[in-house]
Amino acid sequence: MKKYQLLVGGEWRDPSSGAWLESMNPFTGAPWALVPRGGKADVDAAVAAAKAAFCRQSEWRRMTATGRGALLHRLGDLVAVEAERLAEIETRDNGKLLAEMRAQLNYIPQWFRYFGGLADKIEGRVIPIDKPGVFNFTREEPLGVVAAITPWNSPLLLAAWKLAPALAAGNTVVWKPSEFSSVSALEFGELFERAGFPPGVVNIITGFGNEVGEPLVTHPDVAKVAFTGGDRTGEQVYQMAARGIKHVTLELGGKSANIVFDDADLTAAVNGVVSGIFAATGQTCIAGSRALIHRSIYPEFAERLLALARTARMGDPLDSGTQVGPITTRPQYEKVLDYIRIAKEEGALCRMGGAAASRPECGSGWFVEPTIFTDVRPEMRIANEEVFGPVLSIIPFDDEEDAIRIANNTVYGLAAGVWTASMRRALMMTERLEAGTVWVNTYRAISYMSPFGGYKRSGLGRESGAEAIREYLQTKSVWIDISGSSPNPFVMR
Ligand code: NAD
Repeated sequence: MKKYQLLVGGEWRDPSSGAWLESMNPFTGAPWALVPRGGKADVDAAVAAAKAAFCRQSEWRRMTATGRGALLHRLGDLVAVEAERLAEIETRDNGKLLAEMRAQLNYIPQWFRYFGGLADKIEGRVIPIDKPGVFNFTREEPLGVVAAITPWNSPLLLAAWKLAPALAAGNTVVWKPSEFSSVSALEFGELFERAGFPPGVVNIITGFGNEVGEPLVTHPDVAKVAFTGGDRTGEQVYQMAARGIKHVTLELGGKSANIVFDDADLTAAVNGVVSGIFAATGQTCIAGSRALIHRSIYPEFAERLLALARTARMGDPLDSGTQVGPITTRPQYEKVLDYIRIAKEEGALCRMGGAAASRPECGSGWFVEPTIFTDVRPEMRIANEEVFGPVLSIIPFDDEEDAIRIANNTVYGLAAGVWTASMRRALMMTERLEAGTVWVNTYRAISYMSPFGGYKRSGLGRESGAEAIREYLQTKSVWIDISGSSPNPFVMR
């Protein structure tokens, strides 16, 4: 088994604990790599390296914005060359389909290129200030050391969403990947040096949330925390960061509604609902885990949905024919099965799946059968809590108002889907839905160009799109007297 090291100040080193964690392959249930178990001492060293790389005289700070952009472009090109190798690593580490991870890895370069392109377009403004004899302008400046904390489901994609804008804006980074899927991050680490980033601009510390994440979030020299993960962890991270008055971006969970009206193209809608929940084995924050179906088409829609979902092929995520892979972690596997049990106890009707998968093609992996519940009532836990697995609830609605009420009746607000042929209805729904992303007649589309983030408990701030770079900048207002006079010192100018 390959034994990895931490990246601190451009050097690979053993963790100060002298301990390593076994990274598990969810398809085989067996360990396949050893990941350093970092701790506070490693965090301190990494933050010190990132702080040194950010200091006024550093190579990084003296580099032009165009130079920073060129490094990001080079990094994007290196990721493109390494995409296949990194995609396979991610599949071994988190069990998601190779087809999905390959598509992500081939797309990740665009985040580095897009934000690389933005690096030298960060401009202040000259403000036509209302005070005579004064010139006022703004400067957009980096924040300093950014802590990037990422989850296990799309390790490199979600890291790229943070690293690309953070670096384009001129910050330095300490990156803590999930303890369940750190291998791709550690392999990615060497690309920073190959791209030409000065040592210490990006540091990587692996390990547990309480042993690495907490010391990182609370470190006095960390200026910003960019976090993706569950909303409970996000709440803790937010509270810890608040004590240090740090900048925070939170990308948290969801309970997204995929809403199908009776005028929709039903073939497309069935397809969209299946892709919303069973793609990636439901382990995406944008999973459309609640299908809201107009009552007049509910029985027909349910039958068509069940028929399509039953064809889903489970198996080895490295196999190109597989459509549904295992659950990434053992605790998550148990959590998904728990939710299925609770839904049954609360009276939801399990129309498909509803158990661990024992098909021969699933081997000894952590598989859960694609599961569909009907007769789900709004108060049930399955209708309200994020399962993060292949479990769909189908809920009928009567009219537009009813659909909006049910869709918005959640603490989350990450995404929603609307299936309709009516432009009026589509536009009205996009306005009324409380979600950071709304798809109409499609689902699960993302781009480096389009802002992504949550309403309500799904998060704070935006990743991707031109807005995202603002999350890594602070504005300085500069006032210059051009009057040459001495105004009354006892009156505010
Ligand atoms: P998680 O919250 O358990 O962990 C996320 C990261 O936080 C990990 O690196 C973990 O080690 C770290 N962490 C844990 N406790 C910490 C603490 N006390 N202080 C600092 N860091 C800590 O999430 P997960 O189980 O890895 O990922 C699944 C969750 O992520 C789901 O809820 C999902 O919806 C969410 N997610 C959101 C998005 C989005 O963009 N909105 C994308 C993907 C996943």
